[in-house]
Amino acid sequence: MDAKTETKTLQHFIGGQWCDAEQGATFEVLNPLDDSLYCHAAKGSGADMRRAVDAAKTAFAGYRETTPTERERWLLRVAELMEARQKELVDCLIDEIGSPVQKAMFEFTKGLTMVRAAAGMCRNVRGETIPSDRPGTFSMSVREPLGVVAVITPFNVPLIKTTRLVANALAVGNTVVHLPSEMAPHLTVLFAEIVAEAGFPAGSYNVVTGMGAEIGDDLTGHADVDFVTFTGSSVVGQHINEICARNKTPNTLELGGKSPTVVLADADLDKVMPLAARSIFMFAGQACIGSSRFYVERPLYDEFVKRFTMIAGKVGMGDLRDPNTVIAPIISERQRSRVQDHIADAVAKGATVAAGGAWEGNRCQPTLLTDVTEEMTVCKSETFGPVSAIYPIDSYEEGLAKANDTPFGLSSAIFTRDIDKAFHFARNIGAGMCHINGPTIHDEAHVPFGGNGESGVGREGTDADMEAMTELKWVTVQL
Ligand code: NAD
Repeated sequence: MDAKTETKTLQHFIGGQWCDAEQGATFEVLNPLDDSLYCHAAKGSGADMRRAVDAAKTAFAGYRETTPTERERWLLRVAELMEARQKELVDCLIDEIGSPVQKAMFEFTKGLTMVRAAAGMCRNVRGETIPSDRPGTFSMSVREPLGVVAVITPFNVPLIKTTRLVANALAVGNTVVHLPSEMAPHLTVLFAEIVAEAGFPAGSYNVVTGMGAEIGDDLTGHADVDFVTFTGSSVVGQHINEICARNKTPNTLELGGKSPTVVLADADLDKVMPLAARSIFMFAGQACIGSSRFYVERPLYDEFVKRFTMIAGKVGMGDLRDPNTVIAPIISERQRSRVQDHIADAVAKGATVAAGGAWEGNRCQPTLLTDVTEEMTVCKSETFGPVSAIYPIDSYEEGLAKANDTPFGLSSAIFTRDIDKAFHFARNIGAGMCHINGPTIHDEAHVPFGGNGESGVGREGTDADMEAMTELKWVTVQL
């Protein structure tokens, strides 16, 4: 970390102005690798949040009149500026949230795609003509932006979530108030600098940093917020869902996961193993779509465990700037305790640690558990660490039933050469996403991304956000 970053104090971005929190309050942001001070950030209050919503509401009157050409140009300029500031963004992903450079680069590239895909939405805010039963009537639907969109993002993929959700909301003519994770405010502040430089009008994008638990309700419960898009834990998502239900505020919730991978006896382990490793060890398992459950048909089970254990022992845990490093630090003390508790609870109840289980500083070794049973917390709850359980299954049917035995429903995967079973799985798995012969970790700008049950409500992506972040108005003309 350079001296400049060390002394940096981040500000809010409200109505096109950089400003301190009410009464100058700040909080510390720590580098998760060693818990050293990374920066300070404005500690927003309810009043700061209300100012930001007011600014977004005021700006909406003018912003909704901007042309597709203007919004497209601003978004494409954002992508250019991101490229020009790539090093800063990647360094931030490494030092603020502990991303290995491999994951930081993946996220940067994905973020660019998100912004460029959003630029393509600007010209597609369309309604349609509708036949009318009333003679002499011209009838149509007109698609309109909703107004102020609240964007709330998590710590683990802050650039992907910020670029996608903010860019999609702005592309279709909404203004935005963004509450980033208190563990990743710098990344969002860098993005706000880029948005401002790209030429977006003052007040169209506003950022308030601070503690979500303290000021989140001031955003999601605000009467002038017209849509909420939240990505984070299921507990906070449930709370936000209740607030939105009371206020009839439409929303999308992208929450936690316990994503299963089923490996049938006819799968090719040479192809499966690297993908299996990627699906749980990338960013140390701090991925909502990481695969924390593997169900492997008996004939392959022993070989699968043997090979997975060998891979786990070799996964890179070196310098975060080394391209071979995969394992990241776990973001905070609270989250480290959860990962430790899940492993300890499983071991105490009889699980076998096939690989890993120990810690190196704030990093948990890639950990594989076998003999996991229902009473163990790790069996059903989201661990959000580099920890996965491997279960033997006696048939495809058992694999499907076990994969579905969860309140979550985010991503899923099946490896097999049997097309009938593969499609049967895709149709019957209770998850929002299913990958056949591919890892659970997969995201693209234009796909319907999201989950069911405890994993959330609604989908995000260019088409899904076009639907969610606009509404249709029916207009008739008597000719
Ligand atoms: P978190 O729920 O602790 O925090 C997420 C965001 O919510 C942060 O910005 C936080 O400040 C804010 N927040 C906290 N309390 C709030 C409140 N009362 N009102 C409004 N906002 C509030 O989650 P996290 O630890 O940052 O992220 C990890 C979680 O996110 C995991 O459960 C993971 O599965 C999930 N996640 C889901 C997806 C997805 O697309 N489904 C993607 C990434 C992460």
